[in-house]
Parts: sequence; C-alpha cells; structure tokens
Amino acid sequence: MQTNLASWARNSEVGQEADEILRRCVHCGFCLATCPTYQILGDELDSPRGRIYLIKQVFEGAVPTASTQEHLDRCLTCRNCETTCPSGVDYGALIDIGRDVVQQQVRRPLGQRIKRYILRRLLNSIWFSFAYKLGRLSRPVLPRALKNKIVAARPVGSTPDPTRHARKVLLMTGCVQPTMMPTVDAATIRVFDALGFSTIAARGAGCCGAINFHLDAQKDALVQMRANIDAWLPLLDSGEVEAVVVNASGCGAMLKDYPRHLQHDPEYVAKAFRLASKVRDVAEIVAPQAAQLKARLSGLPESVAFHPPCTLQHWQGLSSLTEKMLRDLGFRLLPFSDAHLCCGSAGTYSLTQPDLSLSLRDRKVQSIQAVGAGGVVSSNVGCIAHLQSGTRLPVRHWIEVVDEALDTQTGV
Ligand code: SF4
Ligand code: SF4
Repeated sequence: MQTNLASWARNSEVGQEADEILRRCVHCGFCLATCPTYQILGDELDSPRGRIYLIKQVFEGAVPTASTQEHLDRCLTCRNCETTCPSGVDYGALIDIGRDVVQQQVRRPLGQRIKRYILRRLLNSIWFSFAYKLGRLSRPVLPRALKNKIVAARPVGSTPDPTRHARKVLLMTGCVQPTMMPTVDAATIRVFDALGFSTIAARGAGCCGAINFHLDAQKDALVQMRANIDAWLPLLDSGEVEAVVVNASGCGAMLKDYPRHLQHDPEYVAKAFRLASKVRDVAEIVAPQAAQLKARLSGLPESVAFHPPCTLQHWQGLSSLTEKMLRDLGFRLLPFSDAHLCCGSAGTYSLTQPDLSLSLRDRKVQSIQAVGAGGVVSSNVGCIAHLQSGTRLPVRHWIEVVDEALDTQTGV
C-alpha cells in the first residue's frame, strides 16, 4: 500500500523501517481470520489489518489517541497473522515500533501507569520470589487475575553434578520461572544429564528483556539484552559451552530476536547475531536424540494434548519439530481444534487485558477437553500457569513429564 510519511517519520530509522513493512501490506485481509482478538471482538481495528492502518496513520502524521493505544494494547503479539499473510508483512516488528511511537505520544491513565510500573519492577526484582510465596499463602483472597498466576508448589528433587560431562550448555533460567515452576529447570538438568550434557545456570540480567519490552520500557529491555550478551557470549565464543538452552519458549523467542532489537546499535548488533545463532529451545536439543531417550522412558501418560505456545509455533517455527519429538519419545498426542490460536497468556497480557485473556483461555481449554485428553503438555511457563488456572487437567512442561518417566539407572 502507498504511504505518505510525515517528515519526522521520513527522517527517522524507525520511520523508514515501519515504511518498508507498511508498503508490503496489500490490505487483502487474509490475516483477519487468524486473529484471536478479531475473532472475539469482531472490530476491524482489533484485527492485524486495522492495527496496521492505525500505525500507518500515526506515521503519516495523525495524532494517536487513547483509543489508538487500546487497539494496539489488545494485540497479543502472537504473530498468528503472519502465518496467513501472502505478502510477508513483518507484523511483529511493526507492532513493536507502533506501540513505542504511540506510548511516547499518549500518556496512559494513572492506574495503568502504576500497574505497568509495579509489574516491571516486581517481576524483574529479587522481591518476586518473596511476593509469590506470599501469594501462595493468600491465594484464596487474591483478585482473579493474580490468583490465576499462582501455581501449586511441587517437589523439585536433586540435580546431578554440573561438571560431570565434557559437553556443556548454558541453561537460561529467566526471571519468573525459577520461582513459579522450579521443577522445569530441575527436570531439564536431569534430562540433559541423561543425554550427556551438563548444564550451567546462565546468569545475566535475570530476564531476557521481554517484560520491560512489552510494558512501555523498551530502553530498559535493551539494557537487559546487552547485559545478557556480555555475560554469555564469552562462554560461547571460548567454546566452554555449546549453546544457550531455553525451556520457556517466550524467553527463547526474545533471545532469537535480539539482532532485530539491537540492529541500530553498532557495538552490539554483530554480538546479538552471534548469540542468537547459539540459542536453542530444549526441543531442538532433545529431538535428534529422541529415539535414544525413548528406550529409557516408562509410564508416559496415556494421551495428552500438546499446546504449542505462539512463541514456539509462530515466532520460532518449532511446533512441528516439538510435536514430532514428542511422538518419537512415545507420547500419544490428541489433536484438537484451533491449536494455532493463542491461549491468552501472552506474557503480562493476562494481567493487562484480563477479560480477553480469560475468554481465549476458556476457548482453548474447551477445545482440549472436547477431545478427552488426560492432560496437557506445553513449552512455556506463562501458558502452563494460565491454562492450569482454567482446568482440572494437569498442565505441565513436556520436559517434566519426560523427566518423571526417565529411568536414571541406565544410560550415560
Ligand atoms: S494478510 Fe498481510 S497483506 Fe493482507 S491485510 Fe493482512 S497483513 Fe496486509
Ligand atoms: S499478533 Fe495476534 S492478536 Fe495481534 S494482530 Fe496478529 S493475530 Fe491478531
């Protein structure tokens, strides 16, 4: 489509980047059918095409309003729309740019600013663990949106000596998962040990940057990205570790996106590419060795549904690989309708847009329950906690289930 950028946009890097993306869109509307918010709200401005149009208007000089911001806020950044776009519109990059430009011009109401500030500060701080434990104790009296985030504590178990194997990987521990579901990291360490890898906890900024990035603090997110690069790249460059392994697909997707976010930083862009080339979802490491691992598994659950998080399927393109790996490991996966749609978790979306988030969760749970699944496996802490809040079925990371079925007496 044709654009006629305002002079401020024509002369800025983000304006030129946005223009290139906007010009690819032919306004065909194929993306509408795959957009979860359009499916629920039925408003063109809550569809990818409508949001693209809003962003175009802003770059052409229109003054954004609170309503513009709200339509952009309602986007889950699931990037499902990209999968049906015949023109290859990079919607994910455009919505990031659009949100940042709009938040610089529209002052949010005080309540929203406070909420976003508290979320950013709390989730990125050492106080999160304390607050979460307190949340577990006071769960019955918490507001519904917060209550849904509190998952029951499970025994973590012991982990093997991290120097046992010559082959080593860094395990990205992230900001909220060690508190919410420490079992996922422990299970990863044990499964990787069975495959002949020792795992070293990747200490960096604590967070991949996604929380700040999606809560109006893109500059703070860039600081976290650079800190992670500085902490991890020397270990990768020296060959001390082979890869940065991630068991939360949301964090993995963000790490793989570092080159885009740091493209205008001459000091870090090449480093970001080097780091991103070594980032692996756990499934990417386990998949080639699934047959070897299967021989050591017993007692996998009868039939489960695999919920592929958007950050796994649409951002990283790893849904098929993960499904094949699960089948190779011996899982009997039950297909269910609309598996490509977001569950509504989407990082902090479930706290900033609770109504839309809950409707999407309930649709997802209904689809899964309709096929008679005995449980759900997934690949991201946020989706797991979110789905678990809407069903009695057990919802777990697949690596926890593999870990439980693993015979630790044989093998390496
Ligand atoms: S499918 Fe692609 S080209 Fe068509 S309206 Fe949507 S974003 Fe634009
Ligand atoms: S990213 Fe998801 S919610 Fe946002 S416009 Fe695309 S399909 Fe809709």
